[in-house]
Amino acid sequence: MDALIVTGGAGFIGCNLVDALNKRGIEDVLVVDALDNLPTRYILNKACLDMGLPLVHGAVHGFQGQAMTVIPGHGPCLMCLYGGSEHTGLIPVLGTAPGMVGCVQATEVIKILTGLGDPLLGRLLLIDGLAMRMEEIKVKRDASCLHCGKGADGAAPPPGVRESGSPDA
Ligand SMILES: [Zn+2]
Repeated sequence: MDALIVTGGAGFIGCNLVDALNKRGIEDVLVVDALDNLPTRYILNKACLDMGLPLVHGAVHGFQGQAMTVIPGHGPCLMCLYGGSEHTGLIPVLGTAPGMVGCVQATEVIKILTGLGDPLLGRLLLIDGLAMRMEEIKVKRDASCLHCGKGADGAAPPPGVRESGSPDA
C-alpha cells in the first residue's frame, strides 16, 4: 500500500482522483488530507469513500489542529464530521500547528500500513497549542450523511460544491 498526500486546494479542485490514480497505475493506496479548505475536502472524502480508500484527515487553525481517520464502511466520514459546513475568509495558521498535525497524520499512516495500534476511527483528536493539551471527542456516523449514509444516493452536492463536482469560486 502506498500513501498519496493531497495538498493545495486550488491545485486539486476539479481533479478526478480516480483518473489520477488510474493513470499512475495506483490501486492500493491510502490518502492523506493536507488540504486547506472544506469544499475540496468534501470532494476528496467522497472520492475516497467511492474507491474504498482510507483517508487520514488533518486540519489547522491558529494554534490549534485536529485529525481523524476515515476508513470507508467503518465509522464516520468527513461529511459526518463537518455536516457540509464551510469556512469563509482567510484562516490564520501558526507554522507549528501543521507540524503537530502532520506528525499525528504520519503516525496514523504508519499504523494503517503496519496494522498496529488503533486508528482515529470515529475519534477526532484535538490539539490546542496554546494550552498545550490534546483531547479527543467521539464522532458518530450520521445515518443521513450525504456521503456515507442514506443521503448518499442522488443527494444534492454539499455547500460550496457545484453539480460538476468542482467547488464554487
Ligand atoms: Zn459520512
